[in-house]
Amino acid sequence: MSGLNPNTVLVRYGEIGVKGLRTRRRMEGLLVRALREAMDHFGVKGDIEVSDGRVFIWDPSSIEGAVRASTRVFGVKSVSPAYAIDFSDLEDLVRKAEEFFADRVKGRVFRVRARRAGVHSFTSKDVERLLGSKLLEAGALKVDLENAEYTAYVEVRGSRAYLFDTIIEGPGGLPLGSEGLVLVLFSGGFDSTVASWRLMRRGCTVNLVHYDLGFPETVRVAVEVAKYIADNWSFGHNIKLYIVNFKGVARIVNGLVSPPYRTLVMRRLMLEHAENIGAEALATGESIGQVASQTIRSLYLISRGIRIPVLRPLSGSDKDEIVKESMRIGTYELNKKQVEVCGLAATPTPRGSPDAFEREYDKVADVVVPDPVEVDLKSKSLDEILRSLGL
Ligand code: ATP
Ligand code: MG
Repeated sequence: MSGLNPNTVLVRYGEIGVKGLRTRRRMEGLLVRALREAMDHFGVKGDIEVSDGRVFIWDPSSIEGAVRASTRVFGVKSVSPAYAIDFSDLEDLVRKAEEFFADRVKGRVFRVRARRAGVHSFTSKDVERLLGSKLLEAGALKVDLENAEYTAYVEVRGSRAYLFDTIIEGPGGLPLGSEGLVLVLFSGGFDSTVASWRLMRRGCTVNLVHYDLGFPETVRVAVEVAKYIADNWSFGHNIKLYIVNFKGVARIVNGLVSPPYRTLVMRRLMLEHAENIGAEALATGESIGQVASQTIRSLYLISRGIRIPVLRPLSGSDKDEIVKESMRIGTYELNKKQVEVCGLAATPTPRGSPDAFEREYDKVADVVVPDPVEVDLKSKSLDEILRSLGL
């Protein structure tokens, strides 16, 4: 082995790069802050530098840890552990690249991919050709541009080059905090979990509110999912969970509201309550047509009169897409458990006019709701949180 190992992690950001200068600077700052928090969380040390429209983590105490941390940060498009070199001319560049790649391509079908920014006396193609032939001499099996087992990437920027062979996808989107504060109505099921994640990916700081309808196991799973999101996906924001005792409300709604309207009335009561907790927008995991309470008409009735935006990031998504996304997020097993424990009865379809709905709603509109319990998800362990909630 040449003994040359990656000395930096190259972090690429997507959309931030196309913003105007001031916005870009602000977003880079947010991304670096989130990255630092993620590295602290995973116990990784290393210097973070923003340069050339990239973020570099120099000499991280663990390359693997730096990769893990950076692929949990919103705004990060992809990540590569890389070996950085300074070079004087094409021959020098190729010699150093050969030293790095020779052992790695030995006996393998490979290709070289070069990119270049800056003024040079050579082209990217020159790098690919020259390095390719040197690596063949050094023991690589053959070049195949279509079906390579191994790709040697060379990225040239001015008099420096980055050598790598792996590109790991990040979540993309925008850094947390580049958008406003959204309060998500959070059941802990697939939909509201994926909805929260999608909003965070668009840069929103997200807090969660869960309405406790009297099933402790449901609340427990909702807390577990919320804690998972806090620990894995909310670097850059001190995410909070509000738990609201809605048992009394449920009892009153069940006693006074005609059955076809109960779900919609409950949902409206949740939104009205959430509106007063304090956020720039509310969000739900509703998806058009998924169930009777999520038709366009139902969505209209539920959020009629709410004064801040009610976002529905899943409105155009199919259930199987949503479930697949929960696997990517890492909450699939917990979300599944939630669906199993809550198993609510199917709700009949409301058919009446908006006026009929409002009449039903008015019967319970002034129901009194206890103050929410606020949980600071990051500062305590899951056990401590559950214990403090008596779960
Ligand atoms: P999810 O998978 O998020 O549970 P769902 O498809 O089961 O959603 P519903 O149970 O009809 O749909 O709920 C629709 C939305 O209402 C949820 O996505 C969530 O935003 C909100 N919601 C439902 N129940 C609660 C609750 N107990 N606390 C907070 N929000 C809730
Ligand atoms: Mg649900």
